[in-house]
Amino acid sequence: MEPHAIQLIVDEISASTAAEQDRGAVARYIPGLASISPDQFGMAVVGADGSLATGGDAKTSFSIQSISKVFALTMALGKVGDQLWTRVGREPSGNAFNSIVQLEAEHGIPRNPFINAGALVVADVNLSGHMPRESIGELLRFVRYLADDDSIAIDESVARGEAETGYRNIALANYMRAFGNIRHAVELVTGCYFHQCAIAMDCVQLARAGRFLMLDGRQPDGGQVVSARRARRINALMLTCGHYDASGDFAFRVGMPGKSGVGGGILAVVPGKASIAVWSPGLNESGNSQLGTLALERLAEAT
Ligand code: GLN
Repeated sequence: MEPHAIQLIVDEISASTAAEQDRGAVARYIPGLASISPDQFGMAVVGADGSLATGGDAKTSFSIQSISKVFALTMALGKVGDQLWTRVGREPSGNAFNSIVQLEAEHGIPRNPFINAGALVVADVNLSGHMPRESIGELLRFVRYLADDDSIAIDESVARGEAETGYRNIALANYMRAFGNIRHAVELVTGCYFHQCAIAMDCVQLARAGRFLMLDGRQPDGGQVVSARRARRINALMLTCGHYDASGDFAFRVGMPGKSGVGGGILAVVPGKASIAVWSPGLNESGNSQLGTLALERLAEAT
């Protein structure tokens, strides 16, 4: 599709979502997110040809939250490869993102790396051989490299607020530590996790950071981030597990690998064609962006 045609579609979607009444509810359990206005909507589509189409608040930064799980997973796979799958599964959970119920029956092995428990194990892997500050710095550098943008930063107030109220995540980490599946001190692991969730990006930066997933593991300049096989597998996990207990519904409605965050962002990938970021802070009951999902559904239909 011509870049110009994509821009027209993005304009159309941005205008139609702006008129939408039912915008979902902003996440209230993280202090830094509770005060964000639900009136915002942004969208960016980066094509495999390097084209960029943007709409709405595409240049407004937001907390990427669980979308960081994609980048942290990519880094952990680079460190320990398939060994990772001895400590975390790759099946949809059918449970909420912060659920603890499966962990007892499944001996502290989280279902997949995109629920909180799985992401805490991934953070534990990434912490090996590092101080927390270095581990967070390494992930931030990786995201900056992927997006080709050194201005990307962590919102410290969001990280602090989550550390002060993140009882469930702290419980999950303690519980897995009891099974031996968290190896570092719980406060170090949760500290890294809260900081990765607090990375702030806008839609353009996020869509750029997802380019390697549309380009068989490569950056646009040819630099190999991961093998084509690994990129395909990360996309497969995004398709099956990227939206928690609503992953099946998202796949049905949108049909693209995607990863959501409670900040209201979604990164979606059309392999070989596009890397897409949408953002609107109002969430549906499963904690996924209400208008973001709708926008991606409309984009899929129009293309
Ligand atoms: N930081 C959030 C949490 O741990 C991330 C959850 C999400 O984006 N779904 O609860």
